[in-house]
Amino acid sequence: KTFQEIDLIAPVQRALADEKYETPTPIQAQTIPATMQGRDVLGCAQTGTGKTAAFAVPILNQLGQGNRKSTPKRPLVLALAPTRELAIQIGASFAVYGRHLKLRQALVYGGVNQGKQVRAMNRGAHILVATPGRLLDLMNQGHIKLDQLEMFVLDEADRMLDMGFLPDLKRIISHLPEKRQSLFFSATLPPSIIKLSQSLLHKPVSVNV
Ligand code: AMP
Repeated sequence: KTFQEIDLIAPVQRALADEKYETPTPIQAQTIPATMQGRDVLGCAQTGTGKTAAFAVPILNQLGQGNRKSTPKRPLVLALAPTRELAIQIGASFAVYGRHLKLRQALVYGGVNQGKQVRAMNRGAHILVATPGRLLDLMNQGHIKLDQLEMFVLDEADRMLDMGFLPDLKRIISHLPEKRQSLFFSATLPPSIIKLSQSLLHKPVSVNV
């Protein structure tokens, strides 16, 4: 199946055509339709498999369908990544595949002054891409509220646990609405990851590439 045969909205189709993407990669072929159906996803995939588009494309497709007139005060989508480099890369992918949609995103990561990030949150964003530590700091200071969240992505979950983010993750997750769609990606599936995924996902579609 080509991208054109998947029922994506025109602005997303156009962005994929701009990028000269024709065929979904195996992880995309399996997770994009499931995500479009509203299912939770557990994806086991390494970097280089196209996993970023595997979640970014159906998320943008969903956001672009909404009859949303103004930028929401609070984010509708949260993508969590272990490192600032990965967060920046995910943000860049949302920008590329979302270039024909009028959506706003904010990036939140540690190691830099938080003023710019706080101002971006105050302006409002559909999509928030963040690393756990700085996100929690800004939540604790009252700058970020996740009570409107509709979709949650956890990327490179195994690396996140290796970096000691489990306590931060649990605190963040405790603030998310119960009713949400969750997409969980990890390069490996050790028992700690299986346990975390089970606490997070509701009847997920499991994809292993
Ligand atoms: P990722 O695994 O998300 O880091 O993506 C790896 C690379 O594959 C990125 O440079 C993407 O731009 C590219 N890519 C992702 N999906 C496709 C696709 N369906 N067709 C061609 N290139 C792709």
